[in-house]
Amino acid sequence: MSASSVAELIRGAGSVVALTGAGISVPSGIPDFRTPGTGLWEKVDPMEVAHINVFRRDPERFWHFYGQRFQTLEDKEPNGAHRALARLQDAGIVGAVITQNIDRLHAKAGSRDLVEVHGSIAHSSCQTCRAGYPLDDVRDRQSADPDGIPRCDCGQPLKPDVVLFGEYLPVAALTRAEHLAASADLMLCIGSSLEVYPVASLPQMTLDTGGQLAIITQGPTPYDGRAAARCGGDVEAEMGEIVASLGLL
Ligand code: ZN
Repeated sequence: MSASSVAELIRGAGSVVALTGAGISVPSGIPDFRTPGTGLWEKVDPMEVAHINVFRRDPERFWHFYGQRFQTLEDKEPNGAHRALARLQDAGIVGAVITQNIDRLHAKAGSRDLVEVHGSIAHSSCQTCRAGYPLDDVRDRQSADPDGIPRCDCGQPLKPDVVLFGEYLPVAALTRAEHLAASADLMLCIGSSLEVYPVASLPQMTLDTGGQLAIITQGPTPYDGRAAARCGGDVEAEMGEIVASLGLL
Protein backbone atom coordinates (compact mmCIF):
# COMPACT_ATOMS: atom_id res chain seq x y z
CA MET A 1 0.00 0.00 0.00
CA SER A 2 2.58 2.53 1.08
CA ALA A 3 4.97 2.74 -1.90
CA SER A 4 2.06 2.80 -4.35
CA SER A 5 0.37 5.56 -2.36
CA VAL A 6 3.57 7.61 -2.61
CA ALA A 7 3.52 7.00 -6.37
CA GLU A 8 -0.09 8.19 -6.41
CA LEU A 9 0.85 11.41 -4.59
CA ILE A 10 3.73 11.95 -7.04
CA ARG A 11 1.36 11.57 -10.00
CA GLY A 12 -0.95 14.19 -8.56
CA ALA A 13 1.75 16.73 -7.68
CA GLY A 14 3.02 19.53 -9.91
CA SER A 15 6.31 20.11 -8.10
CA VAL A 16 8.15 17.52 -6.05
CA VAL A 17 11.21 18.15 -3.91
CA ALA A 18 13.23 15.53 -2.02
CA LEU A 19 14.81 15.93 1.40
CA THR A 20 17.30 13.23 2.33
CA GLY A 21 19.21 12.32 5.48
CA ALA A 22 21.68 9.76 6.80
CA GLY A 23 19.22 6.87 6.37
CA ILE A 24 19.52 6.89 2.57
CA SER A 25 23.28 6.21 2.85
CA VAL A 26 23.07 3.45 5.47
CA PRO A 27 22.69 0.70 2.78
CA SER A 28 25.95 2.05 1.26
CA GLY A 29 27.73 1.16 4.49
CA ILE A 30 27.78 4.64 6.00
CA PRO A 31 26.44 4.46 9.54
CA ASP A 32 24.31 7.22 10.95
CA PHE A 33 26.59 8.76 13.56
CA ARG A 34 23.63 9.42 15.79
CA THR A 35 23.17 5.66 16.13
CA PRO A 36 25.27 4.72 19.16
CA GLY A 37 28.13 2.24 18.83
CA THR A 38 28.59 2.51 15.06
CA GLY A 39 31.90 2.65 13.21
CA LEU A 40 34.29 5.53 13.53
CA TRP A 41 32.09 7.43 15.92
CA GLU A 42 32.46 4.72 18.53
CA LYS A 43 35.97 5.82 19.47
CA VAL A 44 35.58 9.58 19.49
CA ASP A 45 32.84 12.01 20.27
CA PRO A 46 32.26 13.75 16.92
CA MET A 47 30.63 16.70 18.65
CA GLU A 48 33.91 17.25 20.44
CA VAL A 49 36.39 16.63 17.58
CA ALA A 50 34.47 17.68 14.45
CA HIS A 51 34.04 21.09 16.01
CA ILE A 52 35.07 24.42 14.54
CA ASN A 53 36.95 25.27 17.75
CA VAL A 54 39.11 22.13 17.47
CA PHE A 55 39.86 22.99 13.85
CA ARG A 56 40.96 26.46 14.89
CA ARG A 57 42.95 25.52 18.00
CA ASP A 58 44.35 22.13 17.07
CA PRO A 59 44.15 21.45 13.30
CA GLU A 60 46.44 18.42 13.71
CA ARG A 61 43.96 16.69 16.01
CA PHE A 62 41.04 17.77 13.85
CA TRP A 63 42.64 16.39 10.68
CA HIS A 64 43.75 13.19 12.35
CA PHE A 65 40.05 12.50 12.88
CA TYR A 66 38.70 14.05 9.69
CA GLY A 67 41.25 12.30 7.50
CA GLN A 68 39.88 8.98 8.80
CA ARG A 69 36.38 10.21 8.12
CA PHE A 70 37.33 11.02 4.51
CA GLN A 71 38.85 7.55 4.19
CA THR A 72 35.68 5.80 5.36
CA LEU A 73 33.53 7.83 2.97
CA GLU A 74 35.79 7.82 -0.09
CA ASP A 75 35.28 4.24 -1.27
CA LYS A 76 31.52 4.16 -0.70
CA GLU A 77 29.15 3.79 -3.63
CA PRO A 78 25.56 4.97 -4.10
CA ASN A 79 22.84 2.38 -3.49
CA GLY A 80 19.48 1.66 -5.10
CA ALA A 81 17.75 4.44 -3.19
CA HIS A 82 20.20 7.09 -4.48
CA ARG A 83 19.79 5.69 -7.99
CA ALA A 84 15.99 5.61 -7.75
CA LEU A 85 15.98 9.27 -6.75
CA ALA A 86 18.31 10.18 -9.64
CA ARG A 87 15.93 8.25 -11.93
CA LEU A 88 12.99 10.32 -10.67
CA GLN A 89 14.99 13.47 -11.44
CA ASP A 90 15.90 12.19 -14.93
CA ALA A 91 12.22 11.59 -15.60
CA GLY A 92 11.48 15.20 -14.62
CA ILE A 93 9.38 14.08 -11.64
CA VAL A 94 11.58 15.29 -8.81
CA GLY A 95 13.21 18.72 -9.09
CA ALA A 96 15.87 19.51 -6.54
CA VAL A 97 17.29 17.23 -3.85
CA ILE A 98 17.95 18.85 -0.49
CA THR A 99 20.35 16.73 1.52
CA GLN A 100 21.93 16.75 4.96
CA ASN A 101 24.51 14.23 3.76
CA ILE A 102 28.09 15.23 3.01
CA ASP A 103 29.04 11.90 1.38
CA ARG A 104 28.74 12.88 -2.34
CA LEU A 105 26.64 9.76 -3.04
CA HIS A 106 23.74 11.67 -4.63
CA ALA A 107 26.19 13.27 -7.06
CA LYS A 108 27.84 9.88 -7.73
CA ALA A 109 24.39 8.43 -8.50
CA GLY A 110 23.86 11.15 -11.11
CA SER A 111 21.58 13.50 -9.18
CA ARG A 112 21.64 17.11 -10.30
CA ASP A 113 20.39 20.24 -8.59
CA LEU A 114 21.65 19.22 -5.17
CA VAL A 115 21.21 21.53 -2.22
CA GLU A 116 23.79 20.31 0.29
CA VAL A 117 22.76 22.11 3.46
CA HIS A 118 25.59 20.56 5.51
CA GLY A 119 28.16 20.98 2.72
CA SER A 120 30.15 18.18 1.11
CA ILE A 121 33.51 16.45 1.43
CA ALA A 122 34.04 17.07 -2.30
CA HIS A 123 36.19 20.11 -1.59
CA SER A 124 38.03 21.98 1.16
CA SER A 125 38.97 25.62 1.33
CA CYS A 126 41.34 28.06 2.98
CA GLN A 127 39.78 30.21 5.67
CA THR A 128 42.34 32.95 5.03
CA CYS A 129 42.61 33.40 1.25
CA ARG A 130 39.43 31.42 0.31
CA ALA A 131 41.21 29.20 -2.23
CA GLY A 132 39.37 25.92 -2.86
CA TYR A 133 40.81 22.43 -3.41
CA PRO A 134 39.14 19.20 -4.60
CA LEU A 135 39.16 16.11 -2.37
CA ASP A 136 41.97 14.24 -4.17
CA ASP A 137 44.25 17.24 -3.86
CA VAL A 138 43.35 17.63 -0.18
CA ARG A 139 44.22 13.98 0.46
CA ASP A 140 47.59 14.40 -1.30
CA ARG A 141 48.37 17.53 0.69
CA GLN A 142 47.45 15.76 3.92
CA SER A 143 49.79 12.81 3.21
CA ALA A 144 52.61 15.17 2.23
CA ASP A 145 52.37 17.32 5.37
CA PRO A 146 54.55 16.25 8.34
CA ASP A 147 51.71 17.06 10.78
CA GLY A 148 49.01 15.49 8.62
CA ILE A 149 47.35 18.84 7.99
CA PRO A 150 46.35 19.58 4.39
CA ARG A 151 47.59 23.10 3.75
CA CYS A 152 46.72 25.82 1.28
CA ASP A 153 49.44 27.17 -1.03
CA CYS A 154 49.48 30.14 1.37
CA GLY A 155 50.41 27.80 4.24
CA GLN A 156 47.15 27.89 6.22
CA PRO A 157 45.29 24.68 7.14
CA LEU A 158 42.42 23.82 4.80
CA LYS A 159 38.96 23.27 6.20
CA PRO A 160 36.59 20.76 4.65
CA ASP A 161 33.56 22.53 3.13
CA VAL A 162 31.21 20.75 5.50
CA VAL A 163 29.30 22.28 8.36
CA LEU A 164 31.20 21.47 11.56
CA PHE A 165 29.68 21.45 15.00
CA GLY A 166 29.64 25.02 16.25
CA GLU A 167 29.17 26.44 12.73
CA TYR A 168 26.13 27.98 11.09
CA LEU A 169 24.58 26.35 8.04
CA PRO A 170 25.51 28.00 4.72
CA VAL A 171 22.97 30.79 4.26
CA ALA A 172 22.59 30.47 0.48
CA ALA A 173 21.88 26.72 0.63
CA LEU A 174 19.46 27.12 3.50
CA THR A 175 17.59 29.97 1.81
CA ARG A 176 17.27 27.89 -1.36
CA ALA A 177 16.07 24.87 0.65
CA GLU A 178 13.43 26.99 2.37
CA HIS A 179 12.22 28.38 -0.93
CA LEU A 180 12.01 24.88 -2.42
CA ALA A 181 10.14 23.56 0.63
CA ALA A 182 7.64 26.40 0.56
CA SER A 183 6.91 26.04 -3.15
CA ALA A 184 6.62 22.23 -3.34
CA ASP A 185 3.31 20.43 -3.83
CA LEU A 186 4.96 17.35 -2.39
CA MET A 187 8.07 16.77 -0.31
CA LEU A 188 9.59 13.29 -0.29
CA CYS A 189 11.38 12.92 3.04
CA ILE A 190 13.82 10.03 2.60
CA GLY A 191 16.00 8.49 5.29
CA SER A 192 15.77 11.37 7.72
CA SER A 193 14.52 11.33 11.29
CA LEU A 194 13.55 14.99 10.63
CA GLU A 195 14.79 15.85 14.08
CA VAL A 196 17.88 17.95 13.42
CA TYR A 197 17.06 21.64 13.22
CA PRO A 198 16.94 23.82 11.24
CA VAL A 199 16.51 21.24 8.45
CA ALA A 200 13.74 19.62 10.47
CA SER A 201 11.63 22.73 9.94
CA LEU A 202 11.52 22.32 6.13
CA PRO A 203 8.60 19.81 6.05
CA GLN A 204 6.60 22.25 8.15
CA MET A 205 7.12 24.94 5.48
CA THR A 206 5.75 22.58 2.83
CA LEU A 207 2.69 21.84 5.00
CA ASP A 208 2.16 25.51 5.84
CA THR A 209 1.97 26.44 2.17
CA GLY A 210 -0.54 23.68 1.37
CA GLY A 211 1.87 20.98 0.21
CA GLN A 212 1.94 17.35 1.27
CA LEU A 213 4.56 15.08 2.79
CA ALA A 214 5.54 11.52 1.94
CA ILE A 215 7.90 9.98 4.49
CA ILE A 216 10.12 7.08 3.43
CA THR A 217 12.15 6.45 6.57
CA GLN A 218 12.68 3.62 9.00
CA GLY A 219 11.85 4.72 12.51
CA PRO A 220 9.55 7.45 13.76
CA THR A 221 9.63 11.12 12.78
CA PRO A 222 7.82 14.09 14.35
CA TYR A 223 5.83 14.46 11.10
CA ASP A 224 4.37 10.94 10.89
CA GLY A 225 0.88 12.05 11.93
CA ARG A 226 0.77 14.74 9.26
CA ALA A 227 2.20 12.76 6.33
CA ALA A 228 -0.07 11.87 3.42
CA ALA A 229 1.93 8.66 2.93
CA ARG A 230 4.37 6.79 5.14
CA CYS A 231 6.81 4.01 4.15
CA GLY A 232 8.76 2.42 7.00
CA GLY A 233 10.53 -0.41 5.21
CA ASP A 234 14.05 -0.73 3.84
CA VAL A 235 14.82 2.51 2.00
CA GLU A 236 16.26 0.81 -1.12
CA ALA A 237 13.28 -1.53 -1.44
CA GLU A 238 10.74 1.26 -0.87
CA MET A 239 12.37 3.62 -3.38
CA GLY A 240 12.63 0.80 -5.92
CA GLU A 241 8.92 0.08 -5.50
CA ILE A 242 8.01 3.74 -5.94
CA VAL A 243 10.00 3.93 -9.18
CA ALA A 244 8.41 0.67 -10.35
CA SER A 245 4.89 1.90 -9.46
CA LEU A 246 5.51 4.88 -11.71
CA GLY A 247 6.52 2.59 -14.54
CA LEU A 248 10.09 3.92 -14.63
CA LEU A 249 12.13 0.72 -14.28
ZN1 ZN B 1 45.13 30.15 1.61
